[in-house]
Formats: sequence, C-alpha cells, structure tokens
Amino acid sequence: MKPAPSTNVSSTRSAADYAHAVSGLIAAGARLWQQGWCPATSSNFSQRLGPDSCAITVSGRDKGNLQPEDIMQVDLAGQALDGKKPSAETLLHTQLYRHDPEIGAILHTHSMNATLVSTVAPNIVELSGLELLKAFAGNSSHQVTLRIPVFNNTQDIAALASDVETWMQQHGTGHAYLIRGHGLYTWGRDLPETLRHLEALEFLLEYYWHARPDTSEVAI
Ligand SMILES: [Zn+2]
Repeated sequence: MKPAPSTNVSSTRSAADYAHAVSGLIAAGARLWQQGWCPATSSNFSQRLGPDSCAITVSGRDKGNLQPEDIMQVDLAGQALDGKKPSAETLLHTQLYRHDPEIGAILHTHSMNATLVSTVAPNIVELSGLELLKAFAGNSSHQVTLRIPVFNNTQDIAALASDVETWMQQHGTGHAYLIRGHGLYTWGRDLPETLRHLEALEFLLEYYWHARPDTSEVAI
C-alpha cells in the first residue's frame, strides 16, 4: 500500500475531494476572469474540503490562467497546510467556513459593478422585487429583499473578518457582502450554487448602479 502523502490529504477520498476542488476553482477562475470580474491577479476563490480545511487560490496568481499549483490547502485558522503562501484575504474565507458549516464554496471578485456600488451605497444595499432574486438559495419569489452589508475597506484583514463575524451574529449569514472600493464576497453550499449567486449579484449590482437615484457623486 502506498504511504499517505505528507500533506493533510490523508485518504483517497480527501485526495479526490482536493483534486475536484482544484479543477473546479481553475474553471471558475477562467470563467470569472473572462467576465472581467477579477482583473490584474485580484480576487480569490475557495472550496471547503471538510470540517477543518479548504482549498483556496494562492496569493497573487492570474485568475484567468490558474494552474493546479496555484491552489493550496489551509486550515480554518488560515494556516497553510502545504507550505504555499495564502492570500492576505484568506481569513475572510475561513471566517465564513467557521461561521456556517453549510458553506461549501466562496467567491471573491473585484468587478467594476461591485466596486462602483460599494462607493455610493449606504451601509446596506437593499434589492427588492427583481426576478433574479430567485437565483439565491431559499428564494422562490421575486417578492423578497436581499440585504448586502457594505464594510469599509482595510488592510487589517483580521479586523475586517471580526467585523463580518459580529455583523453575521447580529443579522444572519445572508448571501453576500461588499467591501467599499474593493469588491464582493459571496458563498453557497457548493461551487455551482456560489457561481449562480455571483452571476446574479453582478446583474443586480449593475441594475442598482444604473437605477440609483443620485448620479451626481461618487465618494469613498
Ligand atoms: Zn480582494
């Protein structure tokens, strides 16, 4: 019998899960980069591997041309399990996986729509009455309100993760949040659901931008 690999991939099942996560994240990167939602090596994507770890993109890689070596494993404290360098924003992914065991994948993008909306929006973006709200898990009607909190940007990611956790404990997990002047985080039970949420959010944020009543100023 082959000895177990030296990383935490300690069974055939977990090795298969990791390989599946790697191929899914590479495909997601190509798709989202093509849309222009992750320019200039920005953005990061992850998929849960189990109760204690996830696969996540390595810091600073071209998301339109990800290779298997551009994906790594971290524990849910954000520590590398394979010697690679995680993105500074890894703590925002691990906060979500720790907060809700149902979350199976997370996509973070730096799209123009998310960035524009985040600079003009109040602290919560509210979207109601739109058919595409049915794209979100649990919604069967357009007659719902999607609330997206907007957090101020900072390079202190641990502090931002703490702010997100505090907000979610008070208001629920929701489906997404914005970081002002920066981008969008969304999640789902698996990668296909998360991709669906992201595409719906991009549509809805573009709608919000064009439908906003005051077009006179953009202020950060
Ligand atoms: Zn970012």
